[in-house]
Amino acid sequence: MIKFLDLQAQYRSIQPQIDAAISRTIADAAFIGGDAVRSFEAAFAKYQEAAHCVGVANGTDAIEIALEGLALPRGSEVIVPANTFIGTSEAVTRAGLRVVFADVDPDDFTLSPVDVRRRLSQRTRAILAVHLYGQPCDMLALGSIAQQHGLRIIEDCAQAHGAEVKGRRVGAIGDVGAFSFYPGKNLGAYGDAGAILTNDESLALRMRKIANHGRTAKYDHEFEGRNSRLDGLQAAILLAKLEFLDGWLEQRRRVAAVYDRLLAGVPEVRLPRRRSDVTHSYHLYVVRVRDRDSVAQRLRDHGIETSVHYPIALPRLRAYAYLGAPDESMVALQQDSQLLSLPIGEHLSEAQAETVALALREAVS
Ligand SMILES: *Cc1c(COP(=O)(O)O)cnc(C)c1O
Repeated sequence: MIKFLDLQAQYRSIQPQIDAAISRTIADAAFIGGDAVRSFEAAFAKYQEAAHCVGVANGTDAIEIALEGLALPRGSEVIVPANTFIGTSEAVTRAGLRVVFADVDPDDFTLSPVDVRRRLSQRTRAILAVHLYGQPCDMLALGSIAQQHGLRIIEDCAQAHGAEVKGRRVGAIGDVGAFSFYPGKNLGAYGDAGAILTNDESLALRMRKIANHGRTAKYDHEFEGRNSRLDGLQAAILLAKLEFLDGWLEQRRRVAAVYDRLLAGVPEVRLPRRRSDVTHSYHLYVVRVRDRDSVAQRLRDHGIETSVHYPIALPRLRAYAYLGAPDESMVALQQDSQLLSLPIGEHLSEAQAETVALALREAVS
């Protein structure tokens, strides 16, 4: 059996460190705030090469609080890729802003700068650059659009811990970066957790207040914020796990290299293109195949789990019917029935990746 994700195996490999982190936090009763939260925020900011890190309750809140922190005029339009998790676009609407979907690049799946230009209007104020599957967006092209039109860039780094653009870690390349530590992400908590990064000190301070009831001192509140904090147990677990992240990412890249090698030149399998200037964090390895569901079934018959990210492009969801009929010419809408996520992660050996690749070759032939 080759699992898509194996969090139990990961726990077994680091159990002493995790158990110690949990018992220390409970012994200290450091459930909200405390040393682990501060230490993790500092360590994660350093790891991602950002000046400031604000821990929050989850990745969706991270995006929403980042948008609130930027204080864009109500009703401003924010450009969001048509293929991402709904958390990205949901946060835009929750922050009182308007979602405008743009298409993805047909080869590398990330937000298409060409299509972003087509979707600009007088009301556009920001771009949500989703580093989908762990591959950073074309930040150079998006940055020049942003500069030309006075737009903010929010990086959705939920799938891109440790990913780089020209040797620079994602998260503070744009104005602000949002991370999720949902258990299945490359760096995952044991529950919900998230973080926001920025190099802008006053933005960091504002976002920290928003996430903590607008609080400035105990029972003194500058404004009405909300409760979205990273809790002590999750911070302690994340701090313990951060030590292992680079090793885990290396294993993900080795698995991806096996897929690249064994699936290249198979005409029935379209491989994801990797841009030359990025370090990919391979949260997901997504190929495109015809008859995706039957291919997935054949792999399951061989004991291989796969997944789909995402089976319904966002503009086609009922949640976005209010935006009117989706633009069927979008690549994102044409390819959602072909996407297939192969198993990837530190739980997988290269030999298992070879088994998956060979089984896929057989399944599509
Ligand atoms: C997981 C994810 C989110 C949401 O994160 P949560 O912690 O689950 O709220 C947002 N965007 C993308 C691209 C994600 O993969």
